[in-house]
Formats: sequence, C-alpha cells, structure tokens
Amino acid sequence: MVNFYCPETLEEALSVRSDHGAVPLAGGTDLMVRFENWSSLPAGIPGPVMSVGQLEELKYIREEDGQLCIGAALPLNQVLEDQRIPRSLAAALDEIAAPSLRNLATLAGNIQNASPAADSVPPLLIMDARVRLLSSAGSRTVDMGDFITGPGKTVLKEDEIIESVRIPMDFVNKEAAGILSYRKVGTRKANALSKLSVCFWAETEKGVLKDIRLALGAVAATVVRLKEACARPAPLRRSACRRDGPSCR
Ligand SMILES: Cc1cc2nc3c(=O)[nH]c(=O)nc-3n(C[C@H](O)[C@H](O)[C@H](O)COP(=O)(O)OP(=O)(O)OC[C@H]3O[C@@H](n4cnc5c(N)ncnc54)[C@H](O)[C@@H]3O)c2cc1C
Repeated sequence: MVNFYCPETLEEALSVRSDHGAVPLAGGTDLMVRFENWSSLPAGIPGPVMSVGQLEELKYIREEDGQLCIGAALPLNQVLEDQRIPRSLAAALDEIAAPSLRNLATLAGNIQNASPAADSVPPLLIMDARVRLLSSAGSRTVDMGDFITGPGKTVLKEDEIIESVRIPMDFVNKEAAGILSYRKVGTRKANALSKLSVCFWAETEKGVLKDIRLALGAVAATVVRLKEACARPAPLRRSACRRDGPSCR
C-alpha cells in the first residue's frame, strides 16, 4: 500500500516532503509509467507519494527579477498557449508526446525525469535557464546545465521540490531576431521519444554568426550543450539562414 498525500498549499507540500520524504507527482506521465504494475494492481511506487499538480501557487507564468518564470505545476499545453515563451521552447514542447498527454505533463516533470531524450532540455540549456528549488528550509536556484547529472539523476534533494523553471529575459527578448532551428528525429510523429534532437540558435551581425548556441539530445548520458563547437564566430552562409523552417514558430 502507498501513502498518498494531496496538500492544499505549497507550504503544506513542503512539510509533507520534509516530514515523510514523499515523492512529488505532477502529471504522472513518467512516474506512473515507470512504476506501472502490470498485474493491474496500483502502481508500485516505493514510499509515500504527494500530488503537486493541484497546487495553484505553482501554476503560473510571470516575469520576475529579469526572468520569465514557469511554475512547476503548469501543464505543458498551458505553457504552449502563452505567447511570451521563447519559440525554441515552444517548438520542443510541441514535439512532446501528443496533445492529450500535454494536458497533464509538466516542464518540471520533464526535467526531473532527466532523460537524455527529454525534449525540453536542449532549448532550456541554450537559453541558460535556471531551476528554482524550494524546501521548508529555504530556496536555491541551480543552472540548468548543473541540474541534471546523469540518466534519471538530478541535484534535487529529498526535502526539495521544483518551484519553477526560469529563463533569462535577455534571451527571451532577443530570441526572435536570431536564427532558430529545432529538429527531433523519432520513430513516428506522435508519442515517440527522440532518437536525436537538435536545438540551434544564433544571432547574426553584419553577415557573421555570433552568440551561437547548440544542444543535442539523445546522444549521450545527458543532453549536451556544445559550447566549444560554437566558440568561433563564422561567416554566415546563405543556405544556413532560413527563418521559416517547419519547426520555427
Ligand atoms: C506515451 C508517452 C509519450 C511521451 N513522449 C515524450 C516525448 O516525446 N518527449 C519527452 O520529453 N517526454 C515524453 N514522455 C515523458 C513524459 O511525458 C514527460 O517527461 C513529462 O514532461 C513528465 O511530466 P509529468 O508532470 O507527467 O511528470 P511526473 O510523471 O509527475 O514526474 C516525473 C518526475 O518528476 C518529479 N517531479 C514532478 N514534479 C516535480 C516537482 N514540482 N518537484 C520535484 N520533482 C517533481 C517526479 O517525482 C518524477 O520523478 C512521454 C511519456 C509517455 C507516457
């Protein structure tokens, strides 16, 4: 039998997390599948579980301290509907599973699942996004590049929950003027995990690519951002400069 908690407030959720070590459950599209009990008994999640999807305090998108903050409990479809989110993130979220699943799944769940194929991670890496973590003892903010440490592993502590994912407004404001390409290779059009994903963005100045950002998914133990490959500005070739690619919003 699994102890299941359904806190009404964020404060209560943090107490449940620290007092009982309850595992957060948002949309459940990873957690329930991972612990599915094929004998049709309830999912065999080891230890207590705490629902966080109902926490209104985590369902928001707002600008705060020069960052666009996306609350941890906001379903992906609601994130996608918000015109403020960068088009690189929109292109990636639009590739996750299918619309019905995106009514439940969250960005926080996608990053905490820490799959090398997680579709939201390449754009979050190129944006220098950050993750805000909360516990009863306080808060801390971790760079996206340091948050995931291996397949299924992150720096989240046992008494913490993800509060939000934060994207620098500097990037949000300049993204539209740059060149963007997001591509996912899967075995079919929907409900398919990435075999490879590529997120590329660059600014141009007088025909020269500058501030080039590139991340690859499903090629290593974690999604990788290729900083060295982007270090030397290169003359822009016209064939590389397509603003109207199918995955650009
Ligand atoms: C059919 C199917 C297709 C899929 N297709 C894709 C795909 O194309 N691309 C892709 O990237 N993924 C895909 N997934 C995986 C999954 O849907 C996503 O990773 C989704 O974003 C997970 O979000 P969730 O809210 O459902 O997470 P949950 O299942 O609720 O949780 C996932 C993990 O995050 C933790 N967690 C959740 N919220 C918090 C929080 N606030 N604080 C701390 N920890 C938290 C949970 O404890 C758990 O470890 C697919 C899954 C299925 C079943």
